[in-house]
Amino acid sequence: MRFNPKARLDTGRTRDRGRGRASRSGGPLGGALGGGGGGGSPLPGGLVGGGGIGAVVLVVLVVVLTQCVGGGGSDPGGAGSSAYDTSRMDAGTDRYAGCETGEDANASADCARVAVENSLTDFWADELGSRFRAEQALVTFTGSVATDGCGEATSAVGPFYCPPDETIYLDTAFFDQVLEDRLGGPDGGFVEPYVLAHEYGHHVQNLLGTMGRVRTQEGPRSDSVRLELQADCYAGMWAHAATTTEDSSGQVLVAELTDDDIRQALGAAAAVGDDRIQQQAQGTVDEESWTHGSSASRQRWFGVGYAGGTLEDCDTFATDDL
Ligand SMILES: [Zn+2]
Repeated sequence: MRFNPKARLDTGRTRDRGRGRASRSGGPLGGALGGGGGGGSPLPGGLVGGGGIGAVVLVVLVVVLTQCVGGGGSDPGGAGSSAYDTSRMDAGTDRYAGCETGEDANASADCARVAVENSLTDFWADELGSRFRAEQALVTFTGSVATDGCGEATSAVGPFYCPPDETIYLDTAFFDQVLEDRLGGPDGGFVEPYVLAHEYGHHVQNLLGTMGRVRTQEGPRSDSVRLELQADCYAGMWAHAATTTEDSSGQVLVAELTDDDIRQALGAAAAVGDDRIQQQAQGTVDEESWTHGSSASRQRWFGVGYAGGTLEDCDTFATDDL
C-alpha cells in the first residue's frame, strides 16, 4: 500500500491515549468492563470474538466484572461518561502531530493509520451522502483504555468500535502480539488497514441502524455473525474503491493497493475466523458459540465487497448463504 506523497492528512479525529493506567480510575480495572453487559462478547463489534482470544484472561475479567456490578459495571454508558469524560479526552499524546502528508504516511505506520482513517472517511462520506457523519475518534492505546461509552477495555478484546461514543479503539500492539504471534495471521502493511476498515464498517452499521437488528448473539447464522461478516464486506468495498477515492480537495490519498495487500487482508480475515480461533485456543470447533463467522466466510464477504459489491450486495441479513 502506498500513499500519494502530496496528499494532505487530517489528524483531527485520530488521537493517542498512551499506556493505560487502570489504577488511576479507582476501582479494579476502572469499574465498567463490559460495554455489552458481560455476554459472550464483552464489547460487541470488535474484530474477534470474546470466547476465543485469551480465554484465561477473560476468565479473570469475568471475576472483576462480577465484583463491579452495582458500581456501574452493568451499565454500558454510565460509568464511562461520568468517570472518564473530559480528563481522559485531554490526556492524549502528540503521537500524530507530525503526520501532515501522504509522504509522512509512506514513512510511518502511525501516519499511515491517519491516512487510512482519512480515506475511509472520504469513501463513506461519498457512499452514504447525507446519512454520513464521521466517527467521533480513532483512539490508539497500549495495554488498556478507559473508553467514554463502553467502560474499561484491555487489548485482550482486540480492536473494537464502541457505538455509544462512535469511536474506534485500537491497541497498536494487537497486530504483533495477538494477530501475528498467537493467531498466526500475516505480518504486513495491509493487515491494519483491513482491521480499521472492518471497525469503520461497524460505524457505518451504527449510522444505518443495522446494529439494532441484532437479536441472536451466537451461532453460525446468528445476527451477530451477520453483523461481523457485513463489516468485512464493507471493508472490502473500501479496499475496492480506495485508489479512486478523493479527499475534499480532489486528491486521491491511496496511490497504490497491490494484490499482495489484498492477500494480507484475506489472511487477516482468516486469522480472526471463529473456527480458527477456537481451534487454536481449545483444539475443537463449536459452531453454536460463533459470534464473528468462520475464516472462509470472513474471506468470502471481504471478497464480495472487494469485487465491487454495493451496500445491497453486503446485506448479510438477507441471505442464509453466509
Ligand atoms: Zn467486528
